[in-house]
Amino acid sequence: MKNHHIAVLPGDGIGPEVTAAAVAVLQAACPDQLTFTEQAVGAAEFLRSGTPLPEAAFEACEKADAVLLGAMGLPHVRWPDGREMTPQIDLRERLDLYAGPRPIKLYSEHDSPLKGYGPGDIDFTIIRENTEGLFSARGSTQPDDRSSATDTLHLTRKGCERICRYAFEEAVRRDRPNQKVTLVDKANVLPSMVFFREIFDTVAQEFPTITTEHIYVDAAALFLVQRPESFDVIVTENMFGDILSDLAAGIVGGMGMAPSGDIGENCAVFQPSHGTAPDIAGQGKANPIGTILSAALMLEWLGETKTATRIENAIRQTLSNPQNRAADLQGTKSTQELTQLIISHL
Ligand code: ATP
Repeated sequence: MKNHHIAVLPGDGIGPEVTAAAVAVLQAACPDQLTFTEQAVGAAEFLRSGTPLPEAAFEACEKADAVLLGAMGLPHVRWPDGREMTPQIDLRERLDLYAGPRPIKLYSEHDSPLKGYGPGDIDFTIIRENTEGLFSARGSTQPDDRSSATDTLHLTRKGCERICRYAFEEAVRRDRPNQKVTLVDKANVLPSMVFFREIFDTVAQEFPTITTEHIYVDAAALFLVQRPESFDVIVTENMFGDILSDLAAGIVGGMGMAPSGDIGENCAVFQPSHGTAPDIAGQGKANPIGTILSAALMLEWLGETKTATRIENAIRQTLSNPQNRAADLQGTKSTQELTQLIISHL
């Protein structure tokens, strides 16, 4: 295994607790091969220095081999226009981390609210477009008289092509028996989505062995609950992906169980899908599994597939005992206890 330099951004709320857990697992899984440099980024950093993403921290992320991030933003720390601090979105945009894989995997029948689903029955990845779509309107200005408000959903040909290609390549990488890429859109209503669909269909021609389908976003919400086993790779617009990935996390145990990556050509950031959970911060109650799975995803992206699989297997073994759960899944284990159990299974 090569040496890799990881920038660690613990952030706010439960961010520091879950990143400490993931770093402990990484150190146990591959001692000596990873070096970590911690950077202060987030709402607390804004209160301290006046900026949520100091330039030196940004440069450290740019230079690192990969970035491991906890969670950022606090409800009481806002910009004058009312928005929360979201330096994680600034990182995505400034580093052009266009692809947002959100793997959704069920490890135990105890964790799904859906009846009859066991380990391995739910296993798909949502590829969220990260840099365009409705989120790109977040800096929009509104009329001073506050008579209306407009956010524009912006898509480019380059943006659609690269995210569709990434989704097909992901289906190839996953190598499931029935490789399929599902485009989730709203092409029955929005011209931007007709554009996205045309580009998806063109890119699909480069991958003739992969099955494709189109599903409207409202139907996708229904099918994710009714027949999640029918999905392999889903590709979708930024905000649709934001919403559907929370729904999808819900069917495999909730926000504490869901990892994510934000991936560009040369840089990548890995973080749990959940936010800062201020309601439980500092109490040792946070479920660290989403962050530890994100660390495994990071190793996979760095080419360390064997170590990534070892970490995932340790999580699978830990979860095979229904007692091994944090409070979010009605368990009694603390963040540290769950982390130690995972380390003991490595
Ligand atoms: P964001 O908008 O930044 O995603 P949010 O406010 O929508 O954040 P979270 O911060 O993810 O949502 O919290 C939603 C709920 O889920 C909270 O009640 C929180 O306690 C719970 N939660 C989130 N992550 C975890 C975790 N890792 N372990 C336990 N509970 C969690």
